[in-house]
This record gives sequence, structure tokens and C-alpha cells, in this order.
Amino acid sequence: MSLIKTNPVQFSQRRGICFVLSAPSGAGKSTIANALRASQKNLFPSVSVTTRSPRPGEKNGVHYHFLTKEKFEKQSTNGELLEWATVFGKSYGTPRGPVEKQLSEGKDIVFDIDWQGHQLIRNALPNDVVGIFILPPSIEELERRLRSRALDNGEEIDKRMSLAIHEISHWNEFDYIIVNNRLDEAIAQAEAILTSERLKTSRQQLKNV
Ligand code: ADP
Ligand code: 5GP
Repeated sequence: MSLIKTNPVQFSQRRGICFVLSAPSGAGKSTIANALRASQKNLFPSVSVTTRSPRPGEKNGVHYHFLTKEKFEKQSTNGELLEWATVFGKSYGTPRGPVEKQLSEGKDIVFDIDWQGHQLIRNALPNDVVGIFILPPSIEELERRLRSRALDNGEEIDKRMSLAIHEISHWNEFDYIIVNNRLDEAIAQAEAILTSERLKTSRQQLKNV
């Protein structure tokens, strides 16, 4: 108490936080992740590696690092990936190096990965992960959003819809649930989670006590 009276309260730099956003495809997690990156200082994207082909407008090194199957296998065997999973028949993974560096520098990271990746990354970094699951307001609305996005062909959309119920069954493995009905409300809820998690006592260390 007396120390606080005479000295300004100072905290050591806290470790970064991994904010993992997961959702059935089409629920809006990329839209919410992009809004968070635009509104939040100190929030950086994790750029995954994948063996799927780029969609129109996707840039190598920005949206994903697009790899051949052979390169992906080499990275996973060499321990270069923090987690990896097969989603819709393609391989996806999180590069380990950038995540470890950013966390130690106190930088927060937002991940757009599936429920398997969330489980694996939580096991790998148990104190660093905050899991947020995004739900669509209904299955019908999920399908409407997938079709309106027009990035995938009909067959790909059917595949994603048939897996949606299974993905949704993992909702209770996450710390927070957001129903993405009105986009502005969903973004505000995600921002509130980031703010609270950043202020948690367990993440702070006082310098002058
Ligand atoms: P995901 O990354 O989860 O696959 P996207 O962020 O690409 O999903 O969103 C899928 C589609 O739904 C996009 O066309 C997006 O603009 C739209 N969308 C996202 N959130 C909402 C919302 N709250 N209301 C209406 N459309 C939305
Ligand atoms: P899309 O092909 O639509 O970009 O992504 C398909 C799914 O793969 C989404 O659920 C997305 O969250 C997931 N995904 C993207 N990158 C990764 C990753 O690095 N690891 C895991 N486990 N899933 C990922």
C-alpha cells in the first residue's frame, strides 16, 4: 500500500495471448477476425500453412502460406508446426516460430483455426489460449452465408454444410460463445472478451511491490 502511495504503479510487460476463433465454415469468423485486427492495437494474425488452393483474391503469405503436400509434410515432421489438422480433406497448420516469438514479445495473436486446432494449441500452450466459438443464428442462415460468399463451388458448400453440425457439437470446449446474428454486436462482444482477458490479474506482474 505505502509503495503504491509513493511510486507509480507499473507492470512488467505481460506475455501475449492467443485468441482462437473457431466456427463452422460460413459463420463469420474471418469477418470478425478482420474487424478485430482493424480495431485492436497489438493484435496480429497467425498465418497458417495449407495444402488447399488459393481462392480468388487470396495472397500467398497474407491469407495463408500455400504449400505442396510434400512441403507441408516436411514442416510437420520437422516440428515446425504448433498444431495441424485435416479439414475438408486438406491439411492446415500453425507455424510454431512466429507464435513463440510474438508471445514472448507481449504481442497478442488471433487465430482462425478449427476445433481440432483449438484443442491442440490449448494443450501446447495451456496458459496462453483463450478460445472463442462463433455460432450462426441458425443452420439455414449458415447455408445462406456460405452460398452468398460465392467463394466455393456447390459441392464444396455441401461438404462444409454436412460437417457443420459436427463442428457445432464442440461448442462447449471453448471459453466463450458468440452468436453472430448482428455483425456489429458480435464484433463488440469479441472486443469485450479481448479487453477482459488482457486485464486479468493472472496475466499481470507488478514491478514495484
Ligand atoms: P467464415 O470465416 O466463418 O467461414 P466468413 O467471415 O467468410 O465466414 O463469412 C461468411 C459470409 O457471411 C461472408 O459473405 C460474410 O460477409 C457474411 N457474414 C458474416 N457475418 C455476418 C452477419 N452477422 N450477418 C450477415 N452476413 C454475415
Ligand atoms: P478455409 O479453407 O475456409 O480457409 O478454412 C477451412 C477451415 O480450416 C476453417 O475452419 C479454418 O478455421 C481451418 N483452419 C485454417 N487454418 C488452420 C490451421 O492452421 N489449423 C487448423 N487446425 N485449422 C485451420
